[in-house]
Amino acid sequence: MNTPDSTPESPERERSLDFIRAIVAEDLASGKHSRIHTRFPPEPNGYLHIGHAKSICLNFDIAAETPGGLCNLRFDDTNPEAEKEEFVQSIQDDIRWLGFDWDDRLFFASDYFERLHEVAVHLIQSGKAYVDSLPPDQISAYRGKWNEPGKNSPHRSRTVEENLDLFQRMRAGEFDEGTHALRAKIDMSAKNMNLRDPILYRIKKAHHHRTGDAWCIYPTYDFTHPLSDAFEGITHSLCTLEFEDHRPLYDWAIDNAPVDCKPRQIEFAMLNLNFTIMSKRRLKQLIQEGRVDGWDDPRLPTLRGLRRRGYTPEAIRTFCRRVGITKNHSATEAALLEHALREDLNKHSPRIMGVLRPLKVVIENYPDGQVEHLPAVNNPEDESAGTRQVPFSKVLYIERDDFMEDPPKKFFRLAPGREVRLRWAYFITCNEVIKDAQGEVVELRCSYDPATRGGDSPDGRKVKATLHWLAAEQALPCEVRLYERLFSVENPSDDSDGKTWVDHLNPDSLEVLSDAFVEPSVADASPGQRYQFERLGYFCVDLDSKESRLVFNRTVTLKDAWAKMQKGR
Ligand code: ATP
Ligand code: MG
Repeated sequence: MNTPDSTPESPERERSLDFIRAIVAEDLASGKHSRIHTRFPPEPNGYLHIGHAKSICLNFDIAAETPGGLCNLRFDDTNPEAEKEEFVQSIQDDIRWLGFDWDDRLFFASDYFERLHEVAVHLIQSGKAYVDSLPPDQISAYRGKWNEPGKNSPHRSRTVEENLDLFQRMRAGEFDEGTHALRAKIDMSAKNMNLRDPILYRIKKAHHHRTGDAWCIYPTYDFTHPLSDAFEGITHSLCTLEFEDHRPLYDWAIDNAPVDCKPRQIEFAMLNLNFTIMSKRRLKQLIQEGRVDGWDDPRLPTLRGLRRRGYTPEAIRTFCRRVGITKNHSATEAALLEHALREDLNKHSPRIMGVLRPLKVVIENYPDGQVEHLPAVNNPEDESAGTRQVPFSKVLYIERDDFMEDPPKKFFRLAPGREVRLRWAYFITCNEVIKDAQGEVVELRCSYDPATRGGDSPDGRKVKATLHWLAAEQALPCEVRLYERLFSVENPSDDSDGKTWVDHLNPDSLEVLSDAFVEPSVADASPGQRYQFERLGYFCVDLDSKESRLVFNRTVTLKDAWAKMQKGR
């Protein structure tokens, strides 16, 4: 498990430079660069997840931290089959939501298709690229294996003229897919497989979401990426570790293309979170198989899902900055993300009372028909949040599990004959338990002490519990969706027990409570609004909410596993 080496609050951790920032600082100090220019390069083939957020924060933060620094948003759109305008829009929207701005620096690799083609022609002319006409399975067979060198294709020795002619005809659409490909001429016996004459262009008779049918040959990622970086004047091209082996090819492309800029690729470890998965392909599969409700399902680690669930952009940014940048593959505790979330929600969420599983309480000595409006503090962390009124009357709801008929030793909440405090209201004592024919408790008969108004004890009398509650008649019925982890094991991708990742889905990741209630003060709440339900956790109003019926998502419970882990250290 990757846990930061000090508590999240540790100022040292936030001050110390990670290895990428150290390189950047050195390049500024030595005068290698006078200005830093980074980019975030998503492929528009899905929605962003919290792993992408780490990369977004890194790239935009580094630009913001350095004088005159810039960060581009560039869509790496060279795979027409998988890419869609929907994703182009959602990615921009999610980055803005996260709090970053690319200003006028929005780019698309597809805007460079003509320039990339010119570079390809240049490579052919300088004898650095050739058209291969082996079928795809032969191309891969000729590549050899990691421990055995590849073989030159019989087409490797084609003349420049021949190559130019074939490449031109590839572009003109004369050939079928898979019949020809443009390859770099590097070294078929290179130890690094990526240097064994990698493919630069392939024929794809596919419609592109931006260039339409203008092209039927498309450049590969390994060719497009370094050159796009160079065209944009990127100084530091930050990517995840799986591209480490591609770096020699990245450098080859830059060195052999007619470009002035020489960006430096630096790799860092991906963010992985325990109890979830991050691969776009798998996220898509969960959606397609109907195992979750869509890209914005609140159980997913997508930014859409987290946002719908009630996560704040501040919390996600804080988390991404705290996990830090390293070269070690590891999984980060989901508890650390939740910790950052609670810190933020605690500061900013108004408190309200909500009852998830109601149990009726009748205050026998309270006047029939009377309603009092008692002042309640909105946010003890923020005085400026003020107070509100909560109605109190004879019939109330309390949380069903705040009562036990036969309580064990450590249960201090309501029980027969016991007195507790109702938050902001009165002390009440349980006098009688009413049950239905099945023996289930359906109602409690209680009495209240009028001298305890506001929840204060007049005579120093102590109670061991304070419960949340609602006045039954005024309470608003609502639906509450409780979420648990999407997977029941820490590392769903671990298949050593013979199970596949899908087998590890948590069958109880969603529980819908349709008989819940909340305070009338939130009647006008709109989707996205966040609250702390006292004693229960943080909740936000879901998109499915209607004026007639509110729907809440539980964002996170109050219990902080991370803080506990830190204490236990
Ligand atoms: P794929 O390429 O398989 O579709 P991807 O997750 O790599 O998926 P990209 O759109 O290529 O998606 O990613 C954009 C950027 O985000 C890349 O620079 C990539 O390295 C970075 N990135 C992706 N996943 C993570 C992660 N889990 N942690 C940190 N950075 C990530
Ligand atoms: Mg990628």
